[in-house]
Amino acid sequence: MDDKLMLMIPGPTPVPEQVLLAMAKHPIGHRSGDFSKVIAEVTEGLKWLHQTQNDLLILASSGTGAMEAGIINFLSSGDRVLVGTNGKFGDRWAQVCEAYSLNVTRISAEWGKPLDPEEFRTQLEADTDKQIKAVIVTHSETSAGVLNDVETINRHVKAHGALIMVDAVTSLGATTVPIDEWGLDVVASGSQKGYMLPPGLGFVAVSPKAWEAYPHANLPRFYLDLGKYRKEAAKNSHPFTPPVNMFFGLQVALKMMQKEGLENIFARHQRQMNATRAAMRALNLPLLAPDYAASPAITSVAPVGVEAEQIRSVMRKQFDIALAGGQDHLKGKIFRVGHLGFVSDRDILTALGALEATLQKLNYDFTPGAGVSAAAKVLTA
Ligand SMILES: *Cc1c(COP(=O)(O)O)cnc(C)c1O
Repeated sequence: MDDKLMLMIPGPTPVPEQVLLAMAKHPIGHRSGDFSKVIAEVTEGLKWLHQTQNDLLILASSGTGAMEAGIINFLSSGDRVLVGTNGKFGDRWAQVCEAYSLNVTRISAEWGKPLDPEEFRTQLEADTDKQIKAVIVTHSETSAGVLNDVETINRHVKAHGALIMVDAVTSLGATTVPIDEWGLDVVASGSQKGYMLPPGLGFVAVSPKAWEAYPHANLPRFYLDLGKYRKEAAKNSHPFTPPVNMFFGLQVALKMMQKEGLENIFARHQRQMNATRAAMRALNLPLLAPDYAASPAITSVAPVGVEAEQIRSVMRKQFDIALAGGQDHLKGKIFRVGHLGFVSDRDILTALGALEATLQKLNYDFTPGAGVSAAAKVLTA
């Protein structure tokens, strides 16, 4: 049916009507006083969301652009970096580092398992002559639905003195990322995930310690030269032409988030994750990630006795719900349910009801109602 598609993929995520309407306006000049006021307001709001006083820079890019900017502005050719890889995005940051001739050591875990902070500690403690300049970690590894223990990894990084750079693309706005409290140096995210916005903006938070490395960092940079963004941000301006209508949307989305409150936003994501996981268990559909490392943004399911791609196809065609599939070697083996951003408890029940109907259609053997009932129990507890 037209206009009924429900996105339960991990980005782009659903966008509230008031955000869409705020964007449906004539653009204004990006050098105007009116736009400066918008930049000032959204920068304040973003600092609130990021729990930081650090510089908060806004780029016209996807999340990858924001992460690439964070990596290339504070490192030099040949620098040694540790990159956590337990999914598609960790792999991508290792590839970005290699594209810029950094000396990459991967710390890996199987997709579906969290990174082991002890492996970071071992590598960092062995590096007595301080060759490791940065540790790069994906907080919520979207491809597998795993939440990595950035807090513990960061403690080992702090003991060593390297910079820590975090992909918080699907953790920011879903779970706490207390940048100042933890002392995270570079934190990157993108508008189409927890922000309730369409794709188009990237965000990078940069600590004073990272800026110390900036003047000597020799990797090539121009459009993503964060020094330019910092200089202009100090004047509530932007070095290039930003997508001004996205800023109008961001203004409204941040107001909505502030009204809900950080704690309530995190609790909502936690509750919806728990409900989704309880339902999958009740339906005997195996979860890829363990409870202690489950992403609050996305649940990965590796079904047995029914094909993941068939589930996705019926959900999409008959019930107008888009679920994500697996990537790389998990293609066809898993489906992923996004519960990130503008998602209500009703959306979760709707998706799980449709999933049960889909399972019936596919002749999967289960107790009808078990999934919805298990989720309802969590949602109403
Ligand atoms: C979506 C996502 C990104 C960014 O992807 P883009 O397509 O460049 O926006 C980065 N990391 C994670 C964990 C993501 O989920």
